[in-house]
Amino acid sequence: MVFYDVHTHKSLSDEKVLQIENKFPNSVNFSSPFSIGIHPWFINKNTYNKELLIVEDKLQHANCYAIGECGLDKLKGVALELQKEVFLKQVELSEKYKKPLIIHCVKAFQEIIAIKKELQPKQFWMLHGFNKNIHLAKSLIDHNFMLSFGELVLKNKKIEETLRQINLSSFLIETDDSDVNVKDIYQKIADIRNVKVVILQNQIKQNFKRIFTK
Ligand SMILES: [Zn+2]
Repeated sequence: MVFYDVHTHKSLSDEKVLQIENKFPNSVNFSSPFSIGIHPWFINKNTYNKELLIVEDKLQHANCYAIGECGLDKLKGVALELQKEVFLKQVELSEKYKKPLIIHCVKAFQEIIAIKKELQPKQFWMLHGFNKNIHLAKSLIDHNFMLSFGELVLKNKKIEETLRQINLSSFLIETDDSDVNVKDIYQKIADIRNVKVVILQNQIKQNFKRIFTK
């Protein structure tokens, strides 16, 4: 059975892994499944409108699964107001082209929740690289967010606690920019949940199909 890796910056060829590769507006290779968006770290106020046109064009590509990563980061990047403006434009594109959003969020969960409550989007919003406590996880899930866990699962006890309590239907798995093998993350989460890897794979497959309907 396939291992889904829903967000990665690495290109891997393993027929047992289906990965959604993160692309930027200046990427050139779109020959495998990808997502594309404007990351809050790399917003340039002079060029983002042009980049949004590229994103819009690529959203119509047969290999495009999602828009993102995009989002809000209070520790890095341009002023929050500009980040919000560019994020909202990408929310619009997500709705227009019926593609889920892959969200990068650092210390801005309340802002993202508020935006979602206000806009009531139809598309799924997935918070990638989630590494917070079960309390925040539950509140996000209540607001119909999908979460995605990555390599920190292998070294952070707090995330283990979150994963022990979270509903299996509410998350996905990713490697992001790490060199970790996605299968090791599956194994670790299966151990935390005391289930066989194949059971977890089956559940993640269902979650994947629910979010990334193509
Ligand atoms: Zn990333």
